[in-house]
Amino acid sequence: RTGLVWFRTGLRLHDNTCLFAALQENEQVYALYVLDDTYLRGADIGAARVAFLFDALHKLQADIESYGGQLIVRRVKQAPQQEVVAVAKEVGARAIYLNRDYLPYPIQRDRHAKALAEAEGIAFKTYPDILLVEPERVKTETGLPYQVFTPFKRRWENLVNVPERYSIEPLLGRLRVTHHVRSAEIPSLAEYGLSLRQQIEPAGERRALQRLEAFARNGLPVYHQRRDFAADPDSTSRLSMHIKWGTISIRECYRTARKVGGPGAQKWIDELAWREFYHAVLYYFPHALTGPMHPEYDRLPWSENEEHFQAWKAGMTGYPFVDAGMRQLNQTGWMHNRLRQVVASYLCKDLLIHWQKGERYFMQMLVDGDWPANNGGWQWVAGTGTDPRRATRIFNPVLQQERYDSQMEYIRQWVPEFGSAQYPQKPIVPHEEGRQRFLNAFKAMIGPT
Ligand code: FAD
Repeated sequence: RTGLVWFRTGLRLHDNTCLFAALQENEQVYALYVLDDTYLRGADIGAARVAFLFDALHKLQADIESYGGQLIVRRVKQAPQQEVVAVAKEVGARAIYLNRDYLPYPIQRDRHAKALAEAEGIAFKTYPDILLVEPERVKTETGLPYQVFTPFKRRWENLVNVPERYSIEPLLGRLRVTHHVRSAEIPSLAEYGLSLRQQIEPAGERRALQRLEAFARNGLPVYHQRRDFAADPDSTSRLSMHIKWGTISIRECYRTARKVGGPGAQKWIDELAWREFYHAVLYYFPHALTGPMHPEYDRLPWSENEEHFQAWKAGMTGYPFVDAGMRQLNQTGWMHNRLRQVVASYLCKDLLIHWQKGERYFMQMLVDGDWPANNGGWQWVAGTGTDPRRATRIFNPVLQQERYDSQMEYIRQWVPEFGSAQYPQKPIVPHEEGRQRFLNAFKAMIGPT
């Protein structure tokens, strides 16, 4: 019997649900990745994320080859589902195996792929893998989706049930090479008109596991105390890009946290729950992907000041904490969570620039750019999302710095010219002025209460 594994995210061999199922059920297993131009040439992706993906594919390819298999690579301009079914026929697969995805475009694509496969007599087998609990399962007692995090988390925690780690090693010899089926090279960034200017995290499952192990030793036990101190490289796991692309299994993250235990690990599990919450939000409220979840909180007189937007992007606002965050993003494709909140607040509150502009810039720059977390994070800060009561919460960039970077280590690292004549002498919009303007606009928007 022959099976075909369709990799999308989940770019690893170990603890990968669809791969494990395929290896158990078949004597020979082929692996496929389809590069889809709809995604790779889209407006919401940039060099960092594509580079990480290509790096992950190279490592996955090498890992598969080390077990005597091959990663078949195909490139399509659109509609990868036709290519997937074509490859399944070429290798003689009786079933296609894949991990489920929960965003609107992949759901539609996979539905279409299933219909095409089944029309050819090929089984289409999907598995839960990328989340600890699938959105369908986390509902209120009356069967409704949650819109608020805390009750979601309570229910979610009761549903998490992670099996012990299993060994896949004895089965990996079932991965096969084919000489009859065309396979493309993994392309270069240049072929997509991209060039990488950021120093990004390397991909690969070995690297991800090392990072998890190091974090479990150094950061996890004190995560509840250290997680907001951006200058400390162990303050958070920096696993987000590995989690996004599945170069690490989310179950392995959870198992590790449970093994370490204590308040640090518990707090970290809360963050994993936020990720699942935002996945569930977009699953049930897909309109939030392209606009405000609560449109009534979005009707502000948004500023079109392009100079301000450019200064924010470049990390030249005159607030060194904000600028340090933006430069960390521009130089590494990653930004510490505390800073993501601070810079987002400065953009959509102090500068009154629409949060979707920031959301898109993040997606273009982030190596971990992930629709649910990014959209959820921006709508949370803007106050248009799951917790609109936060709308009038405005981060003070000076107080935030005094609290979380009191020795200015983070600022010195990313804004080395701070204090010299090269650095803006005053903020483009002083916080108090921006704050007042926002609050007045907000009051006018909601009207007399
Ligand atoms: P850790 O603190 O070690 O957390 C572990 C994991 O939990 C993370 O890797 C991530 O998968 C998940 N997680 C942590 N915090 C959150 C959160 N608030 N929401 C959802 N998941 C979370 N995260 C992304 O993965 N991709 C994004 O595109 C993204 N955009 C964001 C935009 C804004 C405006 C904000 C405020 C947050 C955003 N986040 C995003 C969430 C969070 O900032 C990052 O997940 C975190 O900084 C990644 O660093 P880490 O892996 O060291 O996190």
